[in-house]
Amino acid sequence: MVPPGMIKPPAEAPVPWWRRLHQRLMPDYNRRAAAYWWAVVLTGAVVIAHALVVVSHEPPALLLQMLVGAAIAMLAGLFPVRIPGSKNSFAASEIFLFLMLLLMGPAPAALAAACETALSSWRTSKRWTSRIVSPAIAAVVMFGTGSLLQAMLGQLQQHQWTNEGLLIVATMLFSLAYFVASTLMVSAVPRLKRGESVQLADLIGVFGWVGIAYAGSSAVASLLFLSYRSSGLGVLMAIVPLLAMLLATLHYFFRQQEANEAVRLSAAEAAEREAELAAQHVRALESSERRFHSAFTHASIGMALVSFEGDIRQTNTALSELLGRPGADLITRNLRDIVSADDLSALSERLHQLQSGTVEDIAVELRWLHVSGTELWVAAHGSLFSEPGSATPSLILQAHDVTARRQAEASLHHIAFHDSLTGLPNRRRFHELLAQAVERSHVQPGASFAVMFLDFDRFKLINDSLGHSAGDDFLVQVSQRIARQLRPMDVVARLGGDEFAVLALDLDHDDEAIRLAERLQVVLRATMDVQGNEWTTSASIGITCSSIGARSPEEVLRDADIAMYTAKAAGKARHAVFDVSLHAQASRRMQLERELRRAISEGTLSVAYQPMFRLDGGALVGFEALARWTHPELGVIGPDVFIPIAEETGLVVALTDLVLERACAQLQRCQARDPQFAELAMQVNVSGRDLAHAGLVGRVRQALARAGIAPRHLTLELTENILMAKIESALPLLSELRTLGVHLSVDDFGTGYSSLAHLSSLPIHSLKIDRSFVHDLQGDVRKAAVVQAVITLGHALGKTVVAEGIESASQLAQLRALGCELGQGYHLSRPLSGPALELWLETTWPSAHKAVSAAPDRAPRQAALQAALH
Ligand code: C2E
Ligand code: CA
Ligand code: CA
Repeated sequence: MVPPGMIKPPAEAPVPWWRRLHQRLMPDYNRRAAAYWWAVVLTGAVVIAHALVVVSHEPPALLLQMLVGAAIAMLAGLFPVRIPGSKNSFAASEIFLFLMLLLMGPAPAALAAACETALSSWRTSKRWTSRIVSPAIAAVVMFGTGSLLQAMLGQLQQHQWTNEGLLIVATMLFSLAYFVASTLMVSAVPRLKRGESVQLADLIGVFGWVGIAYAGSSAVASLLFLSYRSSGLGVLMAIVPLLAMLLATLHYFFRQQEANEAVRLSAAEAAEREAELAAQHVRALESSERRFHSAFTHASIGMALVSFEGDIRQTNTALSELLGRPGADLITRNLRDIVSADDLSALSERLHQLQSGTVEDIAVELRWLHVSGTELWVAAHGSLFSEPGSATPSLILQAHDVTARRQAEASLHHIAFHDSLTGLPNRRRFHELLAQAVERSHVQPGASFAVMFLDFDRFKLINDSLGHSAGDDFLVQVSQRIARQLRPMDVVARLGGDEFAVLALDLDHDDEAIRLAERLQVVLRATMDVQGNEWTTSASIGITCSSIGARSPEEVLRDADIAMYTAKAAGKARHAVFDVSLHAQASRRMQLERELRRAISEGTLSVAYQPMFRLDGGALVGFEALARWTHPELGVIGPDVFIPIAEETGLVVALTDLVLERACAQLQRCQARDPQFAELAMQVNVSGRDLAHAGLVGRVRQALARAGIAPRHLTLELTENILMAKIESALPLLSELRTLGVHLSVDDFGTGYSSLAHLSSLPIHSLKIDRSFVHDLQGDVRKAAVVQAVITLGHALGKTVVAEGIESASQLAQLRALGCELGQGYHLSRPLSGPALELWLETTWPSAHKAVSAAPDRAPRQAALQAALH
């Protein structure tokens, strides 16, 4: 029982075998088509079976004839004659089938037709349905229409109408029936499959040709039949091969025709395809041209079409905007009108390269002229362009404005290669230019050059006393003065600080360089106004010329430097020309520098002490400490040689420390010798570098503390020039030293450029008159007046006046007469080494109680000294 609400599913009917077979074999056949198919096939089978029965009763000779006839029909079916220009073909097999019909009756003809159609449909179709149905149709149609013909011919015979013409007409009527029946039955299959009904129109349309062929075939067959009837089998035997030959010839002729046609067709097709391709190409060109023109016109970068001669043919808006010129103006111009004159040769060269075909495109940065007259840097990229319709190719140019980039580059380049203060080339640029000159002088025999190094003798003084902006002003002025003396091809560069260099090219003779140096010295000596102050300066110039032989740029610079140093050492405001001996000097100097460094660090430098006396009374007041250097190989080297080296290299700071240390220790030993020496003092020379070096006060304090010396027993000597040059920066330091209790003295007084106002305000105890004044005292009344003035001045400023370099008794007497309080000099005592000083103290200044028991040789020395002082 099925529960209520539940619906029983319908039972699936089992699919019968024949239906499954049908679906396998004829999936595209609908019910009607399939029914038709089966009907035709079964009818065909019945016809064939009947025909076989009929034939089986025939005598064997006739059977053989039938077989031959069928074979010939089948053979003829293998060579269809295709009707040119149509899909239809005509097979001669019909002739033989119709002939068999006339000769043997419908049953053998139906069998032969079935066989012939079976063979041909086997060859032309792969489907079993048509392979089976086609012979069935052939059998049915042949048998049906053949039977009709037989009946008709029987009737004609009965009425004694044996006219041959009537036979032919009857046969042709038969062929018409045959055609109509076979066509309708054959075309019924596809029509039914598509669900359509059979159409009579098929008879005319698709199969018209077949009808005519059948008519022809039937006519031929009836003619053959008639000739057989009148002349027997022999005629047939003769005609059939001839007919076969004719048909074969036709078959091959039409095949050939067909092949030719195919070739013609494919040629025509190819031509057509080509024409289509050409049309496509033209369309593509047209559209690319349209795209190009649109891209050209609306491009955001400037574009132009230009001839190889540079004539502008077309431009876009961006280019007009770039150059500030309307397109109508541009196309009347040549590129050369809008490119800067400086870049014309570069432009012509590139255009020529393109035209000659050495390159396919060009990229070049040129200066173009804006309508306002300003120059624009434009990166132009050009390539060949063939305009459709134009015989000569032109050039398509793309123009980018790169002015901003070029300006940035130029300013970077300028910064990298020029001095910002004076705008002159800097050291790097000078080196480059020099390298080019050196290179050229190596390659071209006539190419000469000279290099000059200039060093200003008073630059530091300006900088230190008037400040940096005054120093800068000074440098700008001298750089202009130098530049004005040079020829256009010469170069002046600022190498740094107050160092300038000149590169003079293509000199006829080395003398020209010397004359240039002399001219420079003249113009540099002229007074200048530096921020309201009148200044004079002078330069030391070192010269080196290419005539002395091949050198690297570095060697040239070094030699000019050596020559400059030589000029400076020889006295200021001079020039010197480098020669090989100078090089030897320079390398000796470098060697000295190395060895001085070692002497200081190893402590092999020594200190000498020159006693100082009160001129009035001859009491010993102290000593001046003087550095001494005895080189293990070169012997004694004077401070005038090694002190400048120490100052230049900065070694002097360590040297001062060494002297301070030794001098304080020495003073302590002297003071400790005897109560009479307890108030002796020590004078130590200090250089400008020491003042600049931080911690001088600390170092002095340390030296005093280590030796156990009272600050008031130490005097630091500073030359007048140093003091004035550093006055601003040194003032706090000097105050500190004074606070510490150390005394200060101005050395070489009278040689500098002291501002008296400054001098009075400085915390200074004494002035030391330069020994050149002392030297000149004798004989020169004017000089004596100067010394008198200096001493008076010193006293007026409230300072103690000291004289150095006293070499004779008369100098001593004069100085004493002029009121000079203290003095030192060879006449009184030479500088003494530490041990010699102790011995000197021992022998010359015996203590009160020792003097009694003193050795007899000691008294005369002190007596001589006393004599010298009194
Ligand atoms: P200065 O400070 O003017 O030193 C005095 C120079 O005159 C010394 O030369 C001394 O030997 C020399 N002298 C002394 N009496 C006479 C004399 O009667 N006639 C002549 N013609 N000369 C006399 P020295 O020792 O050759 O020193 C030369 C210069 O070297 C010094 O001149 C000083 O500027 C510098 N110097 C020497 N030692 C040191 C030092 O330890 N530190 C620094 N910074 N400079 C030093
Ligand atoms: Ca001195
Ligand atoms: Ca001096």
